[in-house]
Amino acid sequence: MMDKHGGKPASDRRAGRRLYGTQKYSASATVPLVVVVILVLGVLFLILGPTGSSLALPRIRIVFNNEPVQIAEAAANSPPPPPAQAGANTSDEDSGLPPPRQLTDPPYSLGRTILGYDARRAAWLAAHPEFPAMAAPSGRPRVLVVTGSAPSRCPDPDGDHLLLRAFKNKVDYCRVHGLDVFYNTAFLDAEMSGFWAKLPLLRSLMVAHPEVELIWWVDSDAVFTDMLFELPWERYAGHNLVLHGWAAKVFDEKSWIGVNTGSFLIRNCQWSLDLLDLWAPMGSRGPVRDRYGEIFAEELSGRPPFEADDQSALIYLLVTQRERWGDKVFLESSYDLNGFWEGIVDRYEELRRAGRGDGDGGRWPFVTHFVGCKPCRRYADSYPAERCRHGMERAFNFADDQILKLYGFAHESLNTTAVRRVRNETGEPLDAGDEELGRLLHPTFRAARPA
Ligand code: UDP
Ligand code: MN
Repeated sequence: MMDKHGGKPASDRRAGRRLYGTQKYSASATVPLVVVVILVLGVLFLILGPTGSSLALPRIRIVFNNEPVQIAEAAANSPPPPPAQAGANTSDEDSGLPPPRQLTDPPYSLGRTILGYDARRAAWLAAHPEFPAMAAPSGRPRVLVVTGSAPSRCPDPDGDHLLLRAFKNKVDYCRVHGLDVFYNTAFLDAEMSGFWAKLPLLRSLMVAHPEVELIWWVDSDAVFTDMLFELPWERYAGHNLVLHGWAAKVFDEKSWIGVNTGSFLIRNCQWSLDLLDLWAPMGSRGPVRDRYGEIFAEELSGRPPFEADDQSALIYLLVTQRERWGDKVFLESSYDLNGFWEGIVDRYEELRRAGRGDGDGGRWPFVTHFVGCKPCRRYADSYPAERCRHGMERAFNFADDQILKLYGFAHESLNTTAVRRVRNETGEPLDAGDEELGRLLHPTFRAARPA
């Protein structure tokens, strides 16, 4: 396995970091008292305040300037702004955001603490029997697939095209398996930028969709490459978080790649809300994120010292609080809930010749995840861009061929967009006599939808 992220050191990305314990205080004794009183009042307001009050809602206004804006009047009297520099300290995703939280500020929070959620959700489900969380006829949990990308366009149009094809792949998989899908392109929270954007999103979706039993986060750069594969849902019935990974790597080695957070399931329940509450504060943009990046580099094995990422933060939580979370986390390694792209993308033809195989996951990688490829970022990739792009093209085509086959077409090769007809039209229903086609065209495992 290789780096999880671009490996861009935090120091390269942000200047003027402040470390813990470098601040000196000279305030008089009354100042802390006043601060405590204000904090207590603030906490009480957050807990007891009216839920719908606009006063309690933080304002987020993030504008992405893709085009330079001319301000004619001001320009006459003021000197021209300095030219934008390549490789400036703030990255793409941070531009236009408010100043970051400092280490001396109170820790970041996703929002008011939610208590008694399981009972509230159970009451909602009881009142809405038309939205069962376990879906007939399969008895499978109701699942919402969630993915997304940054609000701004990619620096290179090729990046946007890759995102489109990656979403097309997810739409195909979800349609065939009867899963709902949500694509987010908003920063719901100015502090949770970049790969942290998924955390506030997961929380918002959970409370908005009590009928959803499991949320399945899938990175934009993760591609479904076995369209027939259905997750073994019953295996996870007693767990709240399912990740691709290995217990020995997480708990013994404390490896930062012991799990991967590019494709995971999280149950809609109090346990998960509590986990998100502890997970998110490590990722608030700026010095806090940088500082946790340093802590993870010290505490986790193999981790380079760059800003905190959500994957390292989760592993850090699991390692340091195993007794609290460990027994509800399922580490799956019997199939590729997350498969690392480098060892896969050159083998699709070989895999196809060998056939899909039956049983647990078959032989094909279920997910091919282009970790570290960053097709939509300005700063340097960890891997040569052309190798990433070519690998993605092949993964999309390998997956798309499984869909096109349903309609009698296939790509001429995995390296081209050209397709050809592979079956003569007979006028017969296509799936007659072909069990595999039948399972994809008319799946019996679709979740029941509300009437
Ligand atoms: N992401 C997002 N909004 C952003 C940036 C990233 O929703 O502004 C999502 C996107 O789906 C992306 C994921 O976060 O795939 C994780 O980032 P990335 O895939 O670049 O990390 P890697 O898998 O390479 O570690
Ligand atoms: Mn990814």
